Amino acid sequence: MSSGKTPYQGDRRCFGEYRCPECNRGWMSANSWANTGQQCQNCSIVVYPHTQRPLHKPDGLDKGDVSKQHPQHLCEKCKRLGHFCGDRDRYH
Ligand SMILES: [Zn+2]
Ligand SMILES: [Zn+2]
Repeated sequence: MSSGKTPYQGDRRCFGEYRCPECNRGWMSANSWANTGQQCQNCSIVVYPHTQRPLHKPDGLDKGDVSKQHPQHLCEKCKRLGHFCGDRDRYH
C-alpha cells in the first residue's frame, strides 16, 4: 500500500505544489490528491507534491478553466479514474 508519499493524507482534493527533481520544473495543481503524483511534462517521471493545502475556497482558487488546464495525461489520479479527477459538477 502506498501511503505517506504526500504531505496531505486525507481523501479530498487539495492544492499541491510540485517540483521535478530532474529538471527543477515547478508547477501547481488544484487537483492534488493524497499519495498521488503528477508526471513532469518534460521528464515523464512521477513527482509527488512537496506542499499541499486544502482548497478553502472551492469557488475561488480553482475557479474557471482548471479542467482545461489540468493535464489529465500527467495526473495519476485521472489515469486511475479514467476521467478528470476534479469536480465534474462544474465541468460542463
Ligand atoms: Zn522534469
Ligand atoms: Zn487529475
